[in-house]
Amino acid sequence: MHIFDAIVIGAGPAGSTAAYLLASKGFRVLILDKETFPREKLCGGLLTWKTIKLLESTFQTNIDFLKSKQIITCSHNKYRVVSSSGTSFKSQLDYPFHFVQRTAYDSFWLQLACQEGAEFRPGEKVISLDYLDGGTKISTDTGGEFFGRYIVGADGAVSKIRGLLASKNFIHTDWKSNLATALEVFVPSRQTPELPNYPHIYFGHIPWGYAWCFPGKQYRVIGICGLNAKAGRLLRKGYEAFLDSIHIPRERIPTPASHALPYGNYLTTPGYGNVLLLGDACGLADPLLGEGIYYAHKSAQLAAQAVIRSYPEPMSAFRGYARHLNRVIISELKYARIGRHIIFSLPGAWPYRVLMSLLKIMPKKCEETIQGQRSFKWFRSVGTNSPR
Ligand SMILES: Cc1cc2nc3c(=O)[nH]c(=O)nc-3n(C[C@H](O)[C@H](O)[C@H](O)COP(=O)(O)OP(=O)(O)OC[C@H]3O[C@@H](n4cnc5c(N)ncnc54)[C@H](O)[C@@H]3O)c2cc1C
Repeated sequence: MHIFDAIVIGAGPAGSTAAYLLASKGFRVLILDKETFPREKLCGGLLTWKTIKLLESTFQTNIDFLKSKQIITCSHNKYRVVSSSGTSFKSQLDYPFHFVQRTAYDSFWLQLACQEGAEFRPGEKVISLDYLDGGTKISTDTGGEFFGRYIVGADGAVSKIRGLLASKNFIHTDWKSNLATALEVFVPSRQTPELPNYPHIYFGHIPWGYAWCFPGKQYRVIGICGLNAKAGRLLRKGYEAFLDSIHIPRERIPTPASHALPYGNYLTTPGYGNVLLLGDACGLADPLLGEGIYYAHKSAQLAAQAVIRSYPEPMSAFRGYARHLNRVIISELKYARIGRHIIFSLPGAWPYRVLMSLLKIMPKKCEETIQGQRSFKWFRSVGTNSPR
């Protein structure tokens, strides 16, 4: 059996960041992914200020370099919020939203992790996990068996690792009540010149969710997402109503694909023993807008730091990661979930009206919160009976 200091399952932003940081400190790291790379990942590809700052400090890169490598494909200061009745609000950001294409983006960070010495095995779908003395055995669908002192579960929103821990009662998850589903499609821009060329967000086509049209270099990404518990059965209808509202006949564009999206189902106990869950596998996307790329990179940084600090003591690494995750990320997501609850529990067009009022009355505060320059905690002062 192959023995590693850490086995990272999943080569998305969370897995590659953890692998990069661990390998750069001399850890023997294996990354397993069920796909071969470059692989596609359904995503709007929007990066906020906090993500760029984190990438710069973690990978010693900078925005000009990411643009020169075509990792960031476009950036926009303008945005528009549109209601289903057709009214809209256009505004200007101080700091732009940046956009990436996930196929290139994810391959880029994976390549950096491999340059630091991590070993990557594509096409290895993890199917089981067995605790042994001194570590954990990971088995894959190709018959591969690997032994890791630490296991990093970065295998996305439908995480097998999380499922395996839950099936052994090592973690308790109330996963489904705050899970969302998204439908999304990439459309060549020459095929749909009428679609906007800067970010638009649309409310009113789906309860407890929203739709979007984001720009790419030669394409537009259109999608919709909603909390399953409130909007699950309405997603297709909402998508069709959204297309009608932007005057795009369904027949003219490809069929959308669907993907699960964490939407407030973060785990406050992020794994068990030597198994640490990161990114979407730990439910770490913002429950208001669904931003997850930042939280994938950030949780990976926190997990890698905890492992490096505590090596070779897995329990102390786990405790350190859980403590920092709760303090740095989950405390934020809790307030975003309160904000979501305040806004989306309102009937009819009220979520849009409230958002418009917030954006008009306190545009800076809203922008800084979304970009990450300000904490979500100010929602506390808006006042409500906060949900869980
Ligand atoms: C439609 C949609 C739009 C989104 N738009 C945005 C956006 O604009 N901005 C933003 O910040 N966030 C967005 N998100 C969220 C964002 O995509 C995720 O939060 C982010 O990808 C999480 O990264 P991750 O590394 O945790 O997981 P992922 O990127 O999902 O990577 C998980 C990896 O694990 C692999 N894997 C899964 N199971 C196994 C297994 N059993 N064995 C081995 N490998 C496995 C997968 O192949 C995959 O490569 C969007 C999500 C969706 C669904």
